[in-house]
Amino acid sequence: FAELSLSSFLADRLQQAGFAAPTPIQSAAIPLALEGRDLLAQAKTGSGKTLAFLIPLIERAVKEGWKPAPHASAQAASSRAPRALVLAPTRELALQIEMELRKYAPPAVTSLAVYGGVPIERHYRALRQSPMIVIGTPGRLLDVAGTRHLDLRGIEYLVMDEADQMLDRGFLRDIQRILQLLPTQRQTMLFSATFSPEILTLAQ
Ligand code: ADP
Ligand code: MG
Repeated sequence: FAELSLSSFLADRLQQAGFAAPTPIQSAAIPLALEGRDLLAQAKTGSGKTLAFLIPLIERAVKEGWKPAPHASAQAASSRAPRALVLAPTRELALQIEMELRKYAPPAVTSLAVYGGVPIERHYRALRQSPMIVIGTPGRLLDVAGTRHLDLRGIEYLVMDEADQMLDRGFLRDIQRILQLLPTQRQTMLFSATFSPEILTLAQ
């Protein structure tokens, strides 16, 4: 981890977690992601893919000094929009990613997980806090993004996690619709345990 030259904030958090070294997918993905490159990353379940995309995201937030807007309600909608979006196949995974993020990110770097199965008003209310990072399942994300509550035009960093599972769950069309709401100028990373022809088509 020392060779990655991470900020002391993140280096300290990783040391506290007690990880001796990055996993192979982390070693491969993190330096490229830190350079701002797009990535297609394949590694089996349990290989540490979550931190492979969260470490570069948190590092960017720390280096750029992401801070909440002082008077959120007075800001223009565009300055309150989230800067990073993570797509995940299930509510459980979305919550797990957010927990991992909260463990390693500074409290000022705010986040929200959105997923189906709970009243949408709950997510509308939480979005008023202007989270910088939104993690969600494609269906609920699309429902929320279709309203004034979530503006995806400020997304600079997109992660598609467990892409194979998202396609297995029939989320291809929802993902394609979400992609149309994002700026084309952004960093994009796709993580999957397997790479089927369908995933390569999505990647393309
Ligand atoms: P994947 O998404 O590839 O299935 P996860 O990101 O969920 O894998 O990680 C699996 C487990 O490995 C988690 O418990 C995580 O905390 C742990 N882990 C992540 N990075 C490391 C590391 N560098 N060394 C040891 N364990 C790690
Ligand atoms: Mg994973």
